Amino acid sequence: MFRPSINRMVAYTPGEQPRAHERFIKLNTNENPYPPSPKVRRAVAKAADATLRLYPAPRADQFVAGASKLYGVPSEMILAGNGSDELLAMIFRATLGPGDKVAYPTPTYSLYDTLAAVQDAKVLHFPFGRDFAVPLAALGRARARLTIVCSPNSPSGTLTPARSLAILAGQLRGRLLVIDEAYVDFASDNSLRLLKNHKNVVILRTLSKAYSLAGMRLGLALAHREVIEGLLKVKDSYNLSRIALAGGAAALGDPAWMRRNVERVKKTRALTEARLRKMGFEVPPSEANFVLARMPGRDMGPVARGLRRAGILVRYFATPVLRDAIRISIGTPAEMAALFRALDPIVRSEFGSMRRRSG
Ligand SMILES: *Cc1c(COP(=O)(O)O)cnc(C)c1O
Repeated sequence: MFRPSINRMVAYTPGEQPRAHERFIKLNTNENPYPPSPKVRRAVAKAADATLRLYPAPRADQFVAGASKLYGVPSEMILAGNGSDELLAMIFRATLGPGDKVAYPTPTYSLYDTLAAVQDAKVLHFPFGRDFAVPLAALGRARARLTIVCSPNSPSGTLTPARSLAILAGQLRGRLLVIDEAYVDFASDNSLRLLKNHKNVVILRTLSKAYSLAGMRLGLALAHREVIEGLLKVKDSYNLSRIALAGGAAALGDPAWMRRNVERVKKTRALTEARLRKMGFEVPPSEANFVLARMPGRDMGPVARGLRRAGILVRYFATPVLRDAIRISIGTPAEMAALFRALDPIVRSEFGSMRRRSG
């Protein structure tokens, strides 16, 4: 019934989403533990009126205007998506046909593999170097039709310096470089300034993480006009609902709320990193709202399952490169305290004392 590439591919597996009656401490899909701005609730309630009989604005005017003001980027350079996942899908659809090359450092957001498989594109994986340094020279030389760098990267949490990305953008001139900045509000820098000199750069943002709106599905692509116009050709006409557009505009209109929650998360992140390291885990310095806790050579599957039995969800990737790690989203201080209460005895019974082993 399907194209051969669809028959061959495996579906993307999202992190577990508990059902309504299940009570878990949810540290597996990098949601924000704090609620969205109260202005979102008011805007959404107001939008839920008789105008819902009308289609929404095809170019998401109200939401895009908010982004334009916040980022200081003209509206023509902004495209709104139903989550940045939809924008990624549009980019793959618009740029890659069967056999075309797409390149990115790995391990990274595994949705890229899924989207490439749908297009029957050829994926070039470039393993991160030590300390999750981006293999810039190799990515530049590959000159794939589409190159993606996730920064801060998931699942490592590590940031690629904007100056490195600028060099890469120059090497890739005439081919798209997508910088997936889903977590950038939690980071010390971002790549927005690259838009000034690089016509091939697309920056992706989402309101799912820093703005606490994963359930609303709101993403943004920032790029030069020609790129936006190409992407518009593959966009669903009405890709965002009136409710989402109103909520998104309200959220972007209250950046102080977001920043306050981001500061709380960053504070908890520092404490979490320190505590994990003290337990013997290797933790790359995170600039995101999660940390990767690694025990080289060990399989962390049993730890993830033990935590689940204790009512705590974390992310475990059963791949050769990531099986020795769990990715832990930063929750409230109380949630992290519960995590450590459960993690301590599990780690001790699985691995004995790691402190001794790691010296
Ligand atoms: C969460 C995430 C996204 C998707 O964000 P949505 O806007 O919720 O679709 C994109 N890229 C990365 C790396 C993410 O972690």
